[in-house]
Amino acid sequence: MISKRLSSLSPSETLIMSQKSTELKTKGIDVINLSVGEPDFFTPTFIKKAAKIAIDENYSFYSPVPGYLSLRNAITKKLKRENNLKYTTEQIVCSNGAKQSICNVLLSIINKGDEVIIPSPYWVSYVEMVKFAEGTNIIIPTNIEQDFKITPEQLENAISSQTKAIIICSPSNPTGSIYSKDELKNFSKILEKYTNIIIISDEIYEHINYIGKHESIAQFKNIHDRVVIVNGISKAYAMTGWRLGWIAAPTWIADACSKLQSQYTSGASSITQKAAEAAYNGNLDCVKIMCKIFKHRLNLMIKLCLDIPGFKINYPQGAFYLFPDCSKYIGKSFRGWKIKNSTDLTMYILEEGHVASVAGNAFGAPNCVRFSYATSDDRLIEAMTRIKNILQ
Ligand code: PMP
Ligand code: GLU
Repeated sequence: MISKRLSSLSPSETLIMSQKSTELKTKGIDVINLSVGEPDFFTPTFIKKAAKIAIDENYSFYSPVPGYLSLRNAITKKLKRENNLKYTTEQIVCSNGAKQSICNVLLSIINKGDEVIIPSPYWVSYVEMVKFAEGTNIIIPTNIEQDFKITPEQLENAISSQTKAIIICSPSNPTGSIYSKDELKNFSKILEKYTNIIIISDEIYEHINYIGKHESIAQFKNIHDRVVIVNGISKAYAMTGWRLGWIAAPTWIADACSKLQSQYTSGASSITQKAAEAAYNGNLDCVKIMCKIFKHRLNLMIKLCLDIPGFKINYPQGAFYLFPDCSKYIGKSFRGWKIKNSTDLTMYILEEGHVASVAGNAFGAPNCVRFSYATSDDRLIEAMTRIKNILQ
């Protein structure tokens, strides 16, 4: 029998849908995969070169648990240069992806029954990680009319004496919404009063921002010493498979994450760390080129979605997802299909239209469906045309 801890955990729906699409592809079916969120670009050449050099220079030994000093140095410089934030290398811990970074932080600070505030729609793994850490999820619902963003009043109402942390994701997966500097400042004014709350700021989509400069909630001095920034190379540098994420955190949290990691994964891959170091020491030209292409695809996707009757959308400002509200199709039946929720809808779209997407259920928004537009224009046009046809 597997443990109770694990049996209460759901597998990642983003990865399940992606796997389903791969299975259908191996059967020779032309599936268009808009499920998993990963750039379709290749890793920039200068980063790949750095990895090859690292192999030749025998970076084949265990690295320090929180990461090579040279990488942590490059990250502190990035934080100063790009975000005007001052951190020391002791405050940086590198892990096997931002996914592990978030899980490390939650496992380091959450005791049984502690509450973690999560605005919904949320990234699939947050709630499962909180469960894993034996915490209690406190979900703040939002809707498309408020651009899926929480208000300061909603935040304050969700806080209790049990609140231990809040997870903010901006730019957001799955909605693409971005909190402005003023909105973050307003949150900081509230959080300033509750000195036990740790603010986990997931900034993995920092560079996929279509409205200008990235704003981090860590910039506000009144709460800075309780903010944990989570970031990584997966999205900005098209390096999902390389597996490297990191935190910039108060030293006591960084130390706790290192201790935890020392017992169950050790330091991240040595070669990946050297590649990441090159990425952070390089300029942002490659990132800007990819962002420009994503912006073009977003505009295309908006056009395509608006052409599908009943798809209601917000206008994302970042990330590479569109998250239409598809309520019009929930409750419908057709040719033996009963669409009771967004999971049924995504299965219908997969089996009848051969397009993989992810049900909003997984993100706490049961009437929505997430489409990742990190693929070519042709495939996006083909995918949305198929969907339009089968929904008709
Ligand atoms: N946070 C968010 C919001 C994500 O979408 C993802 C998925 N890539 C992660 C964290 C984890 O990223 P990774 O583990 O690939 O660094
Ligand atoms: N974060 C990506 C997504 O939301 C990758 C999948 C995952 O890590 O769960 O699709």
